[in-house]
Amino acid sequence: MTMQDKRVALVTGANQGIGLQIAKDLSAHGFTVLVGSRNFDKGLVAAQSIGAGAHAVQLDVTDQASIAAAAARIRREFGRLDVLVNNAAISNTSKRPGMTIAEYSKSTRPSNVSLDEVRAVWETNVFGVLAVTQALLPLLREAPTARIVNVSSGVGSLTRNADPTFPYRSIFGPTYSASKTALNAMTLALAIELEGTGIKVNAVSPGFTKTNLNGYEGTESVEEGAREAVRVALLGPESPTGTFTGANGPIPW
Ligand code: NAP
Repeated sequence: MTMQDKRVALVTGANQGIGLQIAKDLSAHGFTVLVGSRNFDKGLVAAQSIGAGAHAVQLDVTDQASIAAAAARIRREFGRLDVLVNNAAISNTSKRPGMTIAEYSKSTRPSNVSLDEVRAVWETNVFGVLAVTQALLPLLREAPTARIVNVSSGVGSLTRNADPTFPYRSIFGPTYSASKTALNAMTLALAIELEGTGIKVNAVSPGFTKTNLNGYEGTESVEEGAREAVRVALLGPESPTGTFTGANGPIPW
């Protein structure tokens, strides 16, 4: 086992989009960055684009063998993990090319959604986060001040969606939106469990960002989308745990 003086951060789903930008930014802040990618070759290309301090790690968050191998490799090759950014997510598995977000959302209401679609999205966005976190907690517990940042979304806010005046509540549905609500619940549950340990666990929302996830219909750049996750990843030991924040501050759960 080799010990690293530099702090080490793992970002899941870091081969493109907001995850890649988070990895870039953490590298610029002096971290050794592990670029999680389910496709190893895409991870290599992404890591190369960041530079010498970045390393590709094959990691499919829905594959227990891949998760276990990644955790073992991180312990063996880097000997520490200070920051885990759970960023990997999918928005759907059944949106056909040409289908608008509005059309997809009509076909995935609670009354008509396929349970396979719900399960597939939750498998990545909720259970994947829990599985990766469980596998890496032993390493995080050894770090002096570790942090877990879960990349969630404002669309998962129950408080906002329960308000009849919230303009986007018509798109609140059982697949992606509710997966982020469940991710928020996991974030808070873990924050509560780890309260006595110094490991901070927080959820962030990037805002509507131009990425593959939404067919590049987002309005913010990836630099803007990555900013809150990076800010929270860099907070010191006196900072709060169990928060949900975005570019404009706290978001109601
Ligand atoms: P993106 O460009 O589609 O990136 C998603 C990343 O997750 C990709 O690298 C993808 O890998 C990876 N991924 C998907 N399934 C995976 C799996 N099973 N194992 C490992 N990696 C997997 O989307 P993004 O917008 O950057 O999304 C990043 C995060 O921001 C997500 O949590 C998303 O929910 C959140 N978010 C985005 C927005 C937005 O407007 N874009 C808004 C709110 C929240 P492949 O390249 O192999 O597909």
